[in-house]
Amino acid sequence: MRPARWVSALAALVLPLAGAACASRLEVNGERALARIQRQVDAGPRIPGTGAHQTIGDWIVSECARLGGRMERQCWTDSALGRPLALCNFIARFGPQGGRRIALLAHWDSRPFSDQDPEPSHRSDPVPGANDGASGVAVLLEVAEAMKREAPPIGVDLVFLDGEDQGQSSRPQEFCLGARHYAHGLALDGTGRPAAAFLFDMVGDRDLGIWPEQQSAERAANLVAIVLDGAHATGARAFHQLAKYALTDDHVPLLEVGIPAVDIIDFDYPAWHTHLDRPDRVSAVSLAEVSRVAAWIVYRSPLSRP
Ligand SMILES: [Zn+2]
Repeated sequence: MRPARWVSALAALVLPLAGAACASRLEVNGERALARIQRQVDAGPRIPGTGAHQTIGDWIVSECARLGGRMERQCWTDSALGRPLALCNFIARFGPQGGRRIALLAHWDSRPFSDQDPEPSHRSDPVPGANDGASGVAVLLEVAEAMKREAPPIGVDLVFLDGEDQGQSSRPQEFCLGARHYAHGLALDGTGRPAAAFLFDMVGDRDLGIWPEQQSAERAANLVAIVLDGAHATGARAFHQLAKYALTDDHVPLLEVGIPAVDIIDFDYPAWHTHLDRPDRVSAVSLAEVSRVAAWIVYRSPLSRP
């Protein structure tokens, strides 16, 4: 540790070096994130029970393991849809094993039908899920890249949730199946319970605009403030101050078991639940902006102090 007087005497020299060190932690690669979206979409719709779902599940596990994650698979047969659905969450743990942990979450499944499509002929098509599904996965893997370069100061769990988007829109109980399973496990067994959870969903829109989600703002205001601080600190201009939409998303089951959780989501996305949710609707610039905020949460936020 350097005495403070050295810092003051050498401020001109030390500060640029410190700045460079911080920049490397927050260095992200939007083009790599975009390529990871393309990879997921190219595999086909990530619908439970299909080969594409299996392929991308295996790919997420191998990418996280390659980047140094300690992997846990949570696989179960879910009955919420009235038929058996084989689902798996993947948890990649980084950083110290004891002490405070935070979780970054995204869903990795994609929707089997385009029920919001303006063209009726497309409503039974699967959603490609470039933004709705693949973008959150890509952002979490960018954080894994950073954590491979430099271990985080606290425990960080990257949680890839299955079964978010398989339900009928009129039946809310059919959504967020992976998040319910994950939250239920944490409620039963407090080991590894995160102090805070950050959900990344639909974060790659080429026309990015992220407003605080209403339930997050009401029930986890401190985390919403942390996200906005991160956006400010990293120069992310697509993040706004005022809550805009209230959404039932994977953060809600966590809130219900007492884990503070925030949904980072751009819900102004015309291709939502349509056959047009393709890689041409997302951009490397947007993915880099959100990934930088995610890395800031891990390395620079008040939560990152062990
Ligand atoms: Zn969706």
